[in-house]
Amino acid sequence: MSNEFKRDGSHLAYCPPVEKWDDWVELDPEAWPRRVEKHYSLVPTICFNCESACGLLAYVDKGTGQVAKFEGNPMHPASRGRLCAKGPATINQIHDPDRVLYPMKRSGARGAGKWTRTSWDEVLETFGARIRKAILEGRGEEVMYHVGRPGHDFIMERTLQAWSIDGHNSHTNVCSSSARLGYLLWHYADRPSPDHANARFILLLSAHLESGHYFNPHAQRIIDGKMAGAKLAVMDPRLSNTASMADYWMPTYPGTEAAVLLAMAKVILDEKRFDATFVKNWTNWEELEVDGFRAKGQSFEALIEELKKHYAQFTPQFAEKESGVKAEVIVKTAREIATVGSRFASHLWRGSASGNLGGWQPARALMLLHVLTGSVGTEGGHNLNAWNKFVPKTFRVPPPQKRWNELLYPQEWPLCTHEMSFLLPHFLKEGRGRIEAYFTRVFNPVWTFPDGFSWIEMLRDEEKVGLHAALTPTWSETAWFADYVLPMGFSSERHDLMSQESYAGKWIGFRQPVNRVLRERSGEKFEYTYQANPGEVWEEDEFWINLSWAIDPDGAMGIRQYFESPYKPGQKLTVDEYYGWIFDNSVPGLPETAKKEGLTPLQYMRKYGAFEVTRDVYKQNEKPIAAADLAGSKVEANGVVTKEGKPVGVMVEDKPVVGYKTPSRKLELFSKTMADWKWPEFTLPEYYRSHIHRSAQAASLGQPAEDFDAKYMPVVQWPKEAQGEVYTLLPIFRLPNLIHTRSGNAKFLYEISHKNPLWVNPVDAKKLGGVRTGELMKVHTEIGYFVLHAWVTEGLTPGVVACSHHLGRWRINKEDQVERMSSAWVDLKEVGKGQWKMRQLESVSPYESADPETKRVWWSDAGVHQDITFPVHPDPISGMHCWHQMVRVEKAGPDDRYGDIFVDTNLSFAVYQRWKALARPAPGPGGLRRPLWIPRVMRPEEAAYYMKKP
Ligand code: SF4
Repeated sequence: MSNEFKRDGSHLAYCPPVEKWDDWVELDPEAWPRRVEKHYSLVPTICFNCESACGLLAYVDKGTGQVAKFEGNPMHPASRGRLCAKGPATINQIHDPDRVLYPMKRSGARGAGKWTRTSWDEVLETFGARIRKAILEGRGEEVMYHVGRPGHDFIMERTLQAWSIDGHNSHTNVCSSSARLGYLLWHYADRPSPDHANARFILLLSAHLESGHYFNPHAQRIIDGKMAGAKLAVMDPRLSNTASMADYWMPTYPGTEAAVLLAMAKVILDEKRFDATFVKNWTNWEELEVDGFRAKGQSFEALIEELKKHYAQFTPQFAEKESGVKAEVIVKTAREIATVGSRFASHLWRGSASGNLGGWQPARALMLLHVLTGSVGTEGGHNLNAWNKFVPKTFRVPPPQKRWNELLYPQEWPLCTHEMSFLLPHFLKEGRGRIEAYFTRVFNPVWTFPDGFSWIEMLRDEEKVGLHAALTPTWSETAWFADYVLPMGFSSERHDLMSQESYAGKWIGFRQPVNRVLRERSGEKFEYTYQANPGEVWEEDEFWINLSWAIDPDGAMGIRQYFESPYKPGQKLTVDEYYGWIFDNSVPGLPETAKKEGLTPLQYMRKYGAFEVTRDVYKQNEKPIAAADLAGSKVEANGVVTKEGKPVGVMVEDKPVVGYKTPSRKLELFSKTMADWKWPEFTLPEYYRSHIHRSAQAASLGQPAEDFDAKYMPVVQWPKEAQGEVYTLLPIFRLPNLIHTRSGNAKFLYEISHKNPLWVNPVDAKKLGGVRTGELMKVHTEIGYFVLHAWVTEGLTPGVVACSHHLGRWRINKEDQVERMSSAWVDLKEVGKGQWKMRQLESVSPYESADPETKRVWWSDAGVHQDITFPVHPDPISGMHCWHQMVRVEKAGPDDRYGDIFVDTNLSFAVYQRWKALARPAPGPGGLRRPLWIPRVMRPEEAAYYMKKP
């Protein structure tokens, strides 16, 4: 069977054909051996459990009207009918007996866990009045929306820009900012879109086959590529499931990946195996100025000689010494990459980029390999996310906001790709501002961010945070400290548009509230989705539309107009109108395809759930400049084509083409931006030693540390009680079947995974005094400690210990219905100012609920939380939190118990100050806060970019 997606769904013969979706018949397995038929209506929607946005089919039992299960939607071009374990587990989420079903309002002190049910009307009235007042008093930036799990890409920008505030915060700086900076410095797009299926060599600095970014859609295509003969290499200190499938496992010591990649580049340069025509035509090599060499006026050959000189130190032997990967493996893989040339694909997103100080350099070095091999924009190569992600237009778009919010983009980190979100508690502690109305959206920073106790201190302080609503589908450690807990829908209970760069094609997917859609098909009418959802679970689209009306009821503030129907002037916008307009007007090919079936575009999307827009995605840089842009344009001395002072393309081989959206319109081998913004030593891809490098470990112990440079990394200062050997802790690998907070009570998923022990190599187990699997270990960070069991395994490079994401949930009150399948009941105390202790009193056990299966919970472990014991580590350039931790590990003492946590937030504030001191603040050239060409979420108007009027 071919894997190729076909619009008629015939690529997956085992899936129900679309013509049978209205009445799909299966035999009831519970009635076996009797042959009892069950009839289902199948409604497509989109999985909400990771960023991949795979297509789900909800099987609605016609007898009960309830969703009975979720399977894959074969009509979804990216996921092609297949799902990972988390997709079908949506059924656990919607039927979770502990979920929040009604809007709740705090009725005791913040964090005391006392709640009363309230109405949506009261919520809209309260927040509408507070926000209206703040905006009218010129305090709009005191309103903040902080997103954890993204979704509804478009309505939020519309909302905040209609309110004319700079108030969008995100989780991205604990997730992917460093990789983004590395990529965008090369080509403006901040994400790769590798064409794995057509590649002949795939290099992953991630765990894509088990859990990586765009996991299921990418994993399918990596396997497609492998089946067609591609070789797979994986750089990971951990023998992940992905590494176990690889032809080459390259267990790098964390943070040394760029050294290995630059050594590969050196092999390709020295052996003259690079694509000279591509490098010459498509990089800005003529701008290069490094080590006293100026490329301008010199030959291309002179440039190559200079690059060889510059990278001469990166011998395979040097890379082996740094990373532990054998020199001969580095040489062999470099040669294989050179051999496949344009069919070389790779991916880096978290892992090395997110763990390390300077984590953006591995992305920059990895791109150098693509540039040298000419594998950018090619079939089987590296493509740009912007080429493959479809972004539709909407009607009546609000203008950009005039203000700049320094709580989001402070001056210290002018090159950060996203908001400095994880520093918010420290910013408020420093008195940089306050928050009047705070919305956390599927966001649990107390638990998923570093330094969670600083978040608790911020959230419980009503001076700092005036009013906090947690918009969440499930209980969370953060929601516990909110004033309002507002239940939002899971995959089958809400509208959203989704598109991701999952393969060499562009698609759009439509998440929809299944019960509402089905009941409206049979003639019922609903004003709001919460009327058709379980309890009063709502969806954000309608919430923001109604809140905007509550802020500006008569339209006098100019806000309401953006939430009025595009078809019926003055009337409130409905979700059908909102999405109907987009599908009618801005998805090429959709209206025609729908018409062939006698459907409107909205009906088509409700029926199929997804649409493939195009597969014409390669080499978009070579497209000719549009005639309208070309008319009246001029060619600058550097070949950039400009019109009215703005670049529109570049001359390449005497042809005007659109190129890339960088200042040079080419791939920026040389980054003038880095020089202009006070980092001249990093204009080329380089190797930046990480904060957990062995030299930094030695410096932390006061030992001689030859390679340690205090200009680039702070010295770790151990708390007095920290004992034991120094290690690097790898804390950021995912368990394939869990999803941070949202999987909390997904019983199928927790039955599979409910432990996160400390991985220890046998060599280290011996050094630590003969540690055995199951033994209790104490791990000290710079600000506290946590206690957990050891797992002795050879699947990890020595000198490194590891502990996974996703586990260690807790609840403060024993009996509250808060994620009881996954949380331990804990005693949480502030034992001194800023000194926090947590001890598990009781772990997971069977319990009575509306779901009889909760009495059969057999596991008795909630795992151990580690993130809360980590201080913040803002990279001085990308602003990304550098997740890896230098830790001291010892056997636990007689007073330590499994799950114990201690943190001193006074120490965490001091660590923040030490890292902040490494940054090189704005202004940049011309008094700018950040470079104008670098993208920014919810871009304000240009004047706001200047610290002083230009
Ligand atoms: S990879 Fe899994 S969790 Fe992610 S969207 Fe697809 S099915 Fe859902």
